[in-house]
Amino acid sequence: MPDPRLQIGQILLQKRLIDEYQLAHAIREQKRTGLHISKIITRLGFVSEEQMTLILGEQLQHKEHKRIGELLVERNYITAEQRDKALEEQKKTGLRLGKMLMQLGFMTEERLIEILSAQLEIPTANLNELSISPEVTHLLTEEFCRSYKVVPLAVMGKTLTLAMHDPSNQRTIDHIRFKVQKEISPVMASEKDILETINRIYMGHASGEAMKELSRLNEAEDLQTVNKEEEGSSEDQLSDEEGQQVVKLVSSIIQDAIARKASDIHLEPQETFLKLRIRIDGDLTVMPPIPARLMPQILSRVKLLSRMDIAEKRKPLDGRFTVRFRGKEVDLRVSSFPISLRKRGVVEKIVMRILDPNSGQIELPQMGFRESVFKELDYTIHLPNGILLVTGPTGSGKSTTLYAAIRRILDNTINITTMEDPVEMNIDGVNQGQINNAAGFSFASGIRAILRQDPDVIMIGEMRDKETASMAIESALTGHLVFSTLHTNDAAGAFPRLLEMGLEPFLVATAIKGVLAQRLVRRICSNCKEEDPTIDPEVRKDLGISADVKFYRGKGCNRCDSTGYKGRTGIYEFLVPSEEVRNLILRRASGDEIKRVCLAQGMSTLRMDGMEKARTGVTTLEQVLGASEKDETATKMG
Ligand SMILES: [Zn+2]
Repeated sequence: MPDPRLQIGQILLQKRLIDEYQLAHAIREQKRTGLHISKIITRLGFVSEEQMTLILGEQLQHKEHKRIGELLVERNYITAEQRDKALEEQKKTGLRLGKMLMQLGFMTEERLIEILSAQLEIPTANLNELSISPEVTHLLTEEFCRSYKVVPLAVMGKTLTLAMHDPSNQRTIDHIRFKVQKEISPVMASEKDILETINRIYMGHASGEAMKELSRLNEAEDLQTVNKEEEGSSEDQLSDEEGQQVVKLVSSIIQDAIARKASDIHLEPQETFLKLRIRIDGDLTVMPPIPARLMPQILSRVKLLSRMDIAEKRKPLDGRFTVRFRGKEVDLRVSSFPISLRKRGVVEKIVMRILDPNSGQIELPQMGFRESVFKELDYTIHLPNGILLVTGPTGSGKSTTLYAAIRRILDNTINITTMEDPVEMNIDGVNQGQINNAAGFSFASGIRAILRQDPDVIMIGEMRDKETASMAIESALTGHLVFSTLHTNDAAGAFPRLLEMGLEPFLVATAIKGVLAQRLVRRICSNCKEEDPTIDPEVRKDLGISADVKFYRGKGCNRCDSTGYKGRTGIYEFLVPSEEVRNLILRRASGDEIKRVCLAQGMSTLRMDGMEKARTGVTTLEQVLGASEKDETATKMG
């Protein structure tokens, strides 16, 4: 039996589209690269891609396929017994033979695809790296692609290249040919790859559609950069059609991200495309990739908008700009970072942080505090003086909590002044200071100035150093209420941290009225929530949870982009220093000692609060275990 990969070469020879010399050259190339022969021949320019596609299509139709089971046995990929077993099972289940073989463990999907690909002379495709333009995804609906397990990849002339799970299915091919009025050139891909690609492209595509709709409604208003005069210079550079396409694309990327309530947009140059990811609810989501040819212009466009030096590509830059989206102004803080790619050399990765004034608008009672904690916290923020600290790593929602606290106590009778780096969102009625270290406006110098401004409540973005911390304590002890944040793992850890900075224990013990430690966890999508039966008994044993305690998960649905999650909530640990705790601070006790006493006094830890939220189906066990640490102190207590 001749090597099936040679057949296409022989057909081309017969048709006199290539000569012997060219074929030999192509075969040598194939051995070197491992690519499909048809691909090499088109790459070498011997035959046009369109022509090749037609020939492959013709060949597929006229070829007599051996039944797959026979073929696999004949080639010793499976035994005759395995084939018979699979056929028998197939009758019971109605699944396709290939699928049955995989389920029985006789063959991996990769292997099956490899064999079928060779037999049918259909190339396989790695869908992860392909960029697919919206015009192409338009051709078939998401629903159609899902039910037939196909993905449209590219259109060349009258031919649509289509990734298929089962390219031997001529009926599907005929159906799609009729539907899109194009010749179909199939390539093979695994079911998993196809479904993932459908998720990826139609997710972005659907919102792209929504955006188009939106911009039709209000083209002039929808996404304007607020600093109009800065844009003049861009117009002549981007006057050509592709330039306009770039302008639109950048706008739609930003609009899409804002509409999905993303916090960051990542533009990451790769060798062959520009990778786009956006962060939603704390996790990065991959968006449809952008063709490499647009990469330089896209990056320049963003830099131009952010008022960065376009010519400077070799060092990190930062900038910002404001867009108007659905009538509201949204600030974007932009930073570039030069990275080195093997072929492209130095290029810039760009991250845009979205400072959406609406995203932080959640109110304190809606933030997921258990009732006892909410009461204590609410009491603390209404005190006339003292310090409330919120602790946690970057991205744990500390500022959202402080903003909510400020809005809760805000009224016309008090003066609230903040110092932030940066000001993340504006609150009407609050004087928000923007730290500018270069200009000499630091947290420490800022507090002195604020104290001259007759404040009642002061919010200090972060207690970064001794000077800031001691000024904060001084303000608290002179009759001001101070809100601030600190980077510590848990609530009890705040005290030793402040003492390490060099503050006096009695000042710390007196001034701190409460420490809130927090983390964010993703909420289970309420539309597709179900019981999670997959919790490992070992994990239960380790956590000391009996087998009858239920946990939940999101199955994934169209409302949650198949993630099973929608939105986030906090898990909290709130420490209000008791007399005993204050004595421990005076003795410079460790965080562990303080925590042990707080536990005995009934404080619930991050882990405990999280477990409660997992048990009640607010979030998953996985989220809680990822966001909180085991309470070693609690274990020691028994
Ligand atoms: Zn869902």
